[in-house]
Amino acid sequence: MQLEDVYRYIDANQQRFVDDLIRLVKQPSVSARGEGINDCAKIVEEMMQNVGFSTLIIPEGQGNPVVYGEIKSKSSERTLLFYNHYDVQPPEPLEEWMYDPYSGEIRDGKIYGRGVSDNKGNIVSRLKAIQAFLETTGDAPVNLKLVAEGEEEIGSPHLAPVVQKHKKLFSADAAIWEFGGTDRKGRPMIYLGLKGVLSVELRVKAATRDVHSANAPLVPNPAWRLVWALNSMKNEKDEILIRGFHDNVEPPSAEEMEYVQKIPFEEEEEKQDLGLSEFLHNITGLEALKALLYRPTCTINGFLTGYTDKGSKTVLPKKAMAKLDFRLVPRQVTEDILKKLKEHLKNHGFDDIEVITHGSTEPVKTPIDDSFVQTVIETAERVYAKRPVVYPTSAGSGPMHLFRNWLGYPVVSVGCAHAESHGHAPNENLTVEGFVKGTKFIAAILHDFSVS
Ligand SMILES: [Zn+2]
Repeated sequence: MQLEDVYRYIDANQQRFVDDLIRLVKQPSVSARGEGINDCAKIVEEMMQNVGFSTLIIPEGQGNPVVYGEIKSKSSERTLLFYNHYDVQPPEPLEEWMYDPYSGEIRDGKIYGRGVSDNKGNIVSRLKAIQAFLETTGDAPVNLKLVAEGEEEIGSPHLAPVVQKHKKLFSADAAIWEFGGTDRKGRPMIYLGLKGVLSVELRVKAATRDVHSANAPLVPNPAWRLVWALNSMKNEKDEILIRGFHDNVEPPSAEEMEYVQKIPFEEEEEKQDLGLSEFLHNITGLEALKALLYRPTCTINGFLTGYTDKGSKTVLPKKAMAKLDFRLVPRQVTEDILKKLKEHLKNHGFDDIEVITHGSTEPVKTPIDDSFVQTVIETAERVYAKRPVVYPTSAGSGPMHLFRNWLGYPVVSVGCAHAESHGHAPNENLTVEGFVKGTKFIAAILHDFSVS
């Protein structure tokens, strides 16, 4: 059988594949600081070319380059697109790493390095699955497109206009998203959606300079104004009080809840890991999991004002600011929420508060009964010999809506990580075994999609 030959090729070339992954991990690509971005984009492009992709680097305006490539199939009309990102989170705190974050050190079957699980391992697994097919059968089972952007870790601020402008280039019949892996029991996890996110900054100004706090009876205090404004937005039960905020929230369907009930939720480990005895408002079990996946949120990310250094300073600050994010669920729209936030502030007498937006992505979901979703679920079960855990949506965010909502095809997220891959954290790692298995999984998806 054809797929068996592809697997054999992957096994025989495992060391070369790991070497390529290490090469990519050794190249820093921290989008938050613009470190190594162009060099990393070039390596990704070269790796794609080595597989047989015809490539193109799309400049993202003032943003980081998007690497794009495609391979035409001689035997299929269908097209599968892969979305990935080559940028990584900053590696700090460095002292908590067991090995240099850019060493690609292998110990006990694990490859360590910043970005190895998020998202460089997945980029390489996609490329190697495709290479294995081409080398074994001489053809791509379907038309293939691969997009690797360089700003995912900072919220993909420049990707929307790129997708808008190159709709034809990004058109496909289905897409595989960038993240995923196996859980503690080795079951593959499949994700079908993301929350949206709206990041804002609230700014209040009063006097033209900091003043002596003896003037407090006369001079308005921006710190208090900001506290009152924030207080008007959410109560102590964590209910969001912005009028109309929940208007468009679409609750999970009965079918989605069937899948949610099967998700193993390791809440005790989670609490222990965070040093909490209880979750917020004591929610547990299915209720907690449902909140995590389906509840929209309003979170204060940071608050800055006045004097916060040693000792005391009797000062009345001239300004205050807070950063917030709203995590949104399907049918909520970031623009609408922003409008409602501004109306809320105005209606509560806070029209002096300036609202600045720092980017947004929309909530997105592909239905479980979509035939591509069903294909991936069946493929996962065969490859891992375990029932996959299907997340109808997830608590994270990303630019998936550009592909799912704008271009209209199903998008499913799978990857090579494991339960202790430590994405975004020190000692990020991938097991060699997980990487090889993830590569076979992608090869099997290519095959099954071509015949489905
Ligand atoms: Zn990430």
